[in-house]
Order: sequence, then C-alpha cells, then structure tokens
Amino acid sequence: MRRSLVAGNWKMHGRLDANRSLIDALVAAPRPACEVAVCVPFPYLAQAQALLAGSAIALGAQDCSVHEQGAYTGEVAAGMLREFGCSHVIVGHSERRALHGETDATVAAKAERALASGLTPIVCVGETLEQREQGQTEAVIGMQLDAVLHLLGAQRSSRIVLAYEPVWAIGTGRSASAEQAQQVHAFLRARVRHHGADADALPMLYGGSVKPDNARELFAQPDIDGGLIGGASLKAADFLAIASAVPSP
Ligand code: PEP
Repeated sequence: MRRSLVAGNWKMHGRLDANRSLIDALVAAPRPACEVAVCVPFPYLAQAQALLAGSAIALGAQDCSVHEQGAYTGEVAAGMLREFGCSHVIVGHSERRALHGETDATVAAKAERALASGLTPIVCVGETLEQREQGQTEAVIGMQLDAVLHLLGAQRSSRIVLAYEPVWAIGTGRSASAEQAQQVHAFLRARVRHHGADADALPMLYGGSVKPDNARELFAQPDIDGGLIGGASLKAADFLAIASAVPSP
C-alpha cells in the first residue's frame, strides 16, 4: 500500500497573521485519510513549527542548498530545515528551474542533500507547453528523473516523493486532465521501476491547478497518490477539500 500525500506549496505568500489563521484552521479540521504537509517560506518555519506542534500535519520548505554549510550567502541548508521541524522539502520546482537556472544535476544534488539531512525531498518534474506540443514530454521528464535516480541509486531513490507538475498547468487554472496526468505518472513509475527502485511504494503527486472540483478525479487515478498544491493551499477550505478528495485506503 502506497502512502498518499497532499502538500501545500505556499510559494512566496504569507504574513504572520494570515499564516496563523490558515494553520489554525487546518489543525482544527478532521484528519483526512492522507498525509498532509505545508511547505512554507523560510522566515515562517519557526511560526509554522510552533502552530503545527502536536498535530498530524507535516512541515516542509520549498528549497534547500546543495551544500551542507559554508560561505553561500542567502542559501539555506537542509540541516537547518531539519532543526525547524521540517520533514519534507520541495526540490526542482519549475519556478526554481526557470527563474533560478536550476539544472537537472542541481536538483539531483539537492535531493541527495535533503536525504542526507533526514528530509524527504519532493522532487518536481514537468514539461513546458512547447515541449508537450512537440511530443517531448516523456523525453524531458525522463531526463529530469534520470538525473535524480542515477545520483541516488535504487535504494535512496525509493525514499523520495515524486511530483509531476506540467509547467503549463502551474498557476494557470488549466490542469492536466486526469487521463493526461495518469499517463505521465504511469510512465514515471515504470522508469523508477526500471532503475531498480521500489516503484510500487513511491508516492507520486500531481501538481498544476488542482482545485476542489478536479481533485477527486485526479486522485482516483491508479498512479496518482495525492497532490502538490499551490494557489489552493492558501485557502484552508480549499486545501482541506482537496486533501479529503484522496480516496481512503
Ligand atoms: C505549485 O506551485 O506547485 C502548483 C502546483 O501551483 P498551482 O496549484 O497554483 O497550479
């Protein structure tokens, strides 16, 4: 039985008072069937850690450095995230790839650093609209995934969470259809299996304009084990509705 997870990616949103209201509402709600995590901006980790204490909701960050520590101004180490109670960290989000020039090798190194620090990396892969239209989806995401699988090897690869996030669906209101998402997830799972990792146990999330009204159909697909949620994770009611759309085991 695979674990399912719904993780919120707050991106660069939040204020102390808004964070408190949001997390208080999440903590007060009945516990959904899946694991739930919130990935908050670095400055709010301590606040979120305190507000989540004693709850079943996990804490995550949105990025980490490839380095363990040192003269890397502005960077945040995975070990630091661990000290603030993080269990998860997103690596390779398309916004980091596109806006910060992160390569497949960088993303793989971040996943490795996260694991070494006791964090579960949520490794994001996804194609642009142009790449999809040119029939390159599998080639692109296969390459993104291979970089991680090669560096980690089969055993450590079995400890990651994978998120398929088509770039054209992120923040656009245009989700992949359940069929499109399932097709890519099945491809990714086969690729993980081919590398010798425990593909049947590896949680694979879909991300890209997941909302309460499309979550159920997406999460009903056999290879989709939950979601990575951007915009809708900022509204407690929406995020909770999405989490409760994950089928019970
Ligand atoms: C994301 O930022 O990872 C994401 C999926 O965003 P959205 O849900 O807003 O499309």
